[in-house]
Amino acid sequence: MCGEPLPADAGNRRRYCGTTCRREAEFEIRRANGLLYRAEKRLQDFALGTVRIYDARQLKQRREECAAEVERLRERLRALLSTDTED
Ligand SMILES: [Zn+2]
Repeated sequence: MCGEPLPADAGNRRRYCGTTCRREAEFEIRRANGLLYRAEKRLQDFALGTVRIYDARQLKQRREECAAEVERLRERLRALLSTDTED
């Protein structure tokens, strides 16, 4: 996972060189989750019209950036979750 060689007893399913490595991966998942939650909430604010940007063009641009961020974070989370967290 981190690039360190896995121990010799590593089975097929094992992807982490140790507990620290696995915890780091779990932390990354929680972090990505938190970022996604915030981005989704902001996107919802755009949908509700509660974002205080009065320039229509800028508002549209920010909303699109936010939507792209949500997409990117969903992809990232999916990639992280597709990695088995057992060590
Ligand atoms: Zn590792």
